[in-house]
Amino acid sequence: TYFDDFEVKDEIKQAVREMGFEEPSPVQEKAIPEILQSKDLIGQAQTGTGKTAAFGIPLINRITDESHVQAMILTPTRELAIQVSGELQKLSRHLNIRTLPIYGGQSIGHQIKALKQGVQIVIGTPGRVQDHLRRKTLQLDRVRTVVLDEADEMLDMGFIDDIETILKQINVDRQTLLFSATIPPAIRKLSKRYMVKPTTISV
Ligand code: AMP
Repeated sequence: TYFDDFEVKDEIKQAVREMGFEEPSPVQEKAIPEILQSKDLIGQAQTGTGKTAAFGIPLINRITDESHVQAMILTPTRELAIQVSGELQKLSRHLNIRTLPIYGGQSIGHQIKALKQGVQIVIGTPGRVQDHLRRKTLQLDRVRTVVLDEADEMLDMGFIDDIETILKQINVDRQTLLFSATIPPAIRKLSKRYMVKPTTISV
């Protein structure tokens, strides 16, 4: 498989080439076609396997010109939120897409201002995302894609209640993607509750 075989916008393929990716990694080869078919997916993959682009490429392909939040990515740490945001910005550099990382420890006023300017992809840590939802400074009612990145880490850090509260606020018509290095019973339980007939892939 080559990146050119994926049915995604030319602007994304161009960005992928410029990032120096020559061929899809195993997780990308398995996950991208499934995600492009709008399926819910559980991806068992470690960091370093190319999992960010595996969900990022099809996620970006779905973003429209409308300026509301269309995709929500939850990550366990601020470092990962910043890293994922950077990778999505590179992948979408030839498209007019606004991406924003929101995490604890950064001024909430600054984040509120940025959110008001119209953001299509939000990458955040569960606690801070919840904080914005309570303040009504973040609306997730028109989100079409949700990603739980490093889900096992998020559960280990005690974010389960925040994750469930956030998922309950998002339209059930959404596509839900979950990436995790391990799939313990708590992850299976979460997926049964919040995902629709997920396909599982592992690398
Ligand atoms: P990740 O697992 O998403 O943290 O990605 C690990 C690193 O591999 C990142 O620096 C990516 O930019 C890079 N990467 C992702 N996919 C590919 C690919 N198909 N070819 C080469 N590098 C890649």
